[in-house]
Amino acid sequence: MKNSRLFEQAKKVIPGGVNSPVRAFGAVGAKPIFIEKAKGVYLHDADGNRYIDYCLSWGPMILGHARKDVLDEVRKVMAKGTSFGIPTELETRLAGMIVRAIGTVEKVRLVSSGTEAVMTAIRLARGCTGREKIIKFIGCYHGHVDHMLVAAGSGAMTFGAPSSPGVPKDFTKHTILLPYNDPEMLEKAFDKYGDKIAAVIVEPVAGNMGVVTPKKNFLKAIRKMCTKNKSLLIFDEVITGFRLRYGSVQELFGVKADLTCLGKIIGGGFPIGACCGRAKLMDNLAPQGKVYQAGTLSGNPVCVAAGIATLKLLKSQNPYPSLGRATEKLCDSISQALEEKNVEYTINRIGSMFTLFFNPGPVTDYASAIKSDTAKYAKFFTAMLKAGVYLPPSQFEACFVSTEHKQRDFDRTIEAIRKASF
Ligand SMILES: *Cc1c(COP(=O)(O)O)cnc(C)c1O
Repeated sequence: MKNSRLFEQAKKVIPGGVNSPVRAFGAVGAKPIFIEKAKGVYLHDADGNRYIDYCLSWGPMILGHARKDVLDEVRKVMAKGTSFGIPTELETRLAGMIVRAIGTVEKVRLVSSGTEAVMTAIRLARGCTGREKIIKFIGCYHGHVDHMLVAAGSGAMTFGAPSSPGVPKDFTKHTILLPYNDPEMLEKAFDKYGDKIAAVIVEPVAGNMGVVTPKKNFLKAIRKMCTKNKSLLIFDEVITGFRLRYGSVQELFGVKADLTCLGKIIGGGFPIGACCGRAKLMDNLAPQGKVYQAGTLSGNPVCVAAGIATLKLLKSQNPYPSLGRATEKLCDSISQALEEKNVEYTINRIGSMFTLFFNPGPVTDYASAIKSDTAKYAKFFTAMLKAGVYLPPSQFEACFVSTEHKQRDFDRTIEAIRKASF
């Protein structure tokens, strides 16, 4: 088995054999596959197996893998040099596309990952407000930046204890943890710390405790409290940006963020991130302002070219309505297959992202998400993998559908669920 041999070799020179923890398949008690190539919705591993991909590199590959139009652009730009550390016109073009796509964005600072985008937004929020505290919701993931790596307590309002060794308590003591979808707790936190809160950061649709959608008025309540207390609202749209519509979900929910973090899709499969917002805020970033931020490979022409090509296609084709319909139909069929099997489940879906939880639900926050039967998910994941369907290797992640998923892929997926024992 080449997959297991490659994993053994990798473990000798890479911690845990992987460059990002969930890839090790530890959460589903399995051994990772190694990918040789991918095209459209299909992943091909080192053992010659083919999988229908519902993880899509954790979201970016909304147009499928190795999309010709994107690769053509990348090749063209790459041939002219891959990094200069000097501005290129491409960066202005991508920034312009983002500005035109998102109503609350006037300026964009490109960085190399979603983590960096969040890091920048939080430093900027603290720098602009002169305040230190940040409200973060339990179960939301904002990259591996120190002061965002804080674990959930009991669901009650707590000050964050670091969830990783190596993060000093002093770094997270200004992070206030609150349950998602709970405007009352939010109000209490603001009553207590209002004039100390620099920003509230939120995934407007949570994707990192599995998909959890915001309850009606949750995001509006956050906006209201932020405005009242002169705190900034940061939308972490590293997943939702250009995933649920062309641009941000702010228009979808009728809520305006002060700062928006992007990543994933805007890089078209290359490393990227972006911290965006109104000019008045963004101009506080160096060199115009005093809040320092920099990056050797920021705005890298190859990444930016892939991003431009991806956004261009998304804009001209507007695949969002049909992606939503296709995903809805897929989820209906999954429901049907699970009903036949008498399995307890909840499917949370919005647009082309969804999560299947193995508990009766409803799943509205971290506390209800972790009630899912993760052992069952592990069995389900493994059975599906065997049948040629690649799901995220953790219960608490989102499944994604791309423009390249066709009915025959969905049919095969449902067939696999019907035949699987888990
Ligand atoms: C993926 C993700 C990040 C981190 O992005 P990286 O590019 O992995 O650093 C931040 N926030 C959210 C919501 C994400 O899903």
